[in-house]
Amino acid sequence: MVLPLACACARVDSLTPAQRWRILRAVVVFMCRMMLISRPGIQLSRRKRALLIGINYNTSEQQLRFSQRDAEKMRQLLKDSFGFHDEDIIALTDEVDNLLPPTWANIMQGVGQFIIRGQDNTDYVLFYSGHSGQHPEPDNDIRVKENGLRAFIVPVDCAIDMNREYLPHRVIYDKYLHESIIVPLEETKGCHLFAMLDCGHSATLLDLRHHRCNRIGTVTSAVRRALRQYIVEDVIIPFYKDVLRSAREDILVSIYDSFFRKETVQSSEADAPNPPLNLAMGKRCNGFCPRVPNLSRKSTVVCISACKDSEHTLEGDQFDTLTSAIVKLLQAKPQATLKDAMYIARGTVEQIRQYVRAEFSFLEAQSLMKIVKWNPQLASNDPLDINTMLVYSETTYI
Ligand SMILES: [Zn+2]
Repeated sequence: MVLPLACACARVDSLTPAQRWRILRAVVVFMCRMMLISRPGIQLSRRKRALLIGINYNTSEQQLRFSQRDAEKMRQLLKDSFGFHDEDIIALTDEVDNLLPPTWANIMQGVGQFIIRGQDNTDYVLFYSGHSGQHPEPDNDIRVKENGLRAFIVPVDCAIDMNREYLPHRVIYDKYLHESIIVPLEETKGCHLFAMLDCGHSATLLDLRHHRCNRIGTVTSAVRRALRQYIVEDVIIPFYKDVLRSAREDILVSIYDSFFRKETVQSSEADAPNPPLNLAMGKRCNGFCPRVPNLSRKSTVVCISACKDSEHTLEGDQFDTLTSAIVKLLQAKPQATLKDAMYIARGTVEQIRQYVRAEFSFLEAQSLMKIVKWNPQLASNDPLDINTMLVYSETTYI
């Protein structure tokens, strides 16, 4: 030990004061960091990454007016209130001077490179405002869809055919979004993705498993939530876990599946000798999914979307867009909960109803509101406690 120490001392003697100071500082930082890592409950900064897409389709007949503006609002919000820097944000908008227009190639690349595989403790924000559509599902994979159609977003350079339909190979399907964003994210720990999809047909645009069980603000949703809490979570699950656990599990799993799973399990899973017992794994959300605590620091995904899969949205000067309303909420209250956000989102629908009632006769308003009908949705990869925060804070706990 004496010889290396002597060599080290000799080398230190040969350093300049500036070099000594740099080494001392590096050692102190390293030791502080090690002390923090060894103590649970200490705050560390989280990594941040945002992909914002806002398309006005300036040269199209179906031009939109607020998508670019809303992407900019979101960018400003992330910088002002959530600690994002310019280098954390990729913005694909069709403003004339933007070097990254939201073309098919740029969106495919942006989405494909958005999630950093294997990087834990990162806050992701995904935003899309633009046109969307639906096509029949070619391989009949409708696991999470409400209306059996495959949804897609529309790049700025998407062409239409003679029937004025978007060309299938020039749109970007929900399946690609799911496989590029959700799948790699679920392989990380401690990450959080907040997505906002301000477009039509958007409830399951990320192919997230849960949306019905997150609904609030209607009589149906209130009844559903009460049944989930007082029957499923307080009675059935404890009974299943504590009393029947020692009975034949294969029978219990099949009973459970028939009650909680709407879709048949996929063949690879069904053929497994011991089907995995996961109480939160419904193939399609039926609204009664029990909430389970996130003990494994699994990454979470929440997605606010403008409407159900079968619905459209509108924009106008007389009412807020969904984005505009949520940005206002988060500017005033960065710690806003999912519940706050959904009530604000539902408020935008009420704004347009009031506008329609004021501008049109009673009969015209009634018929218009049957067409102009949409309900903002909250989707997630796991059943949610809607009192948790919409966007995470600047720090994390380890
Ligand atoms: Zn659910």
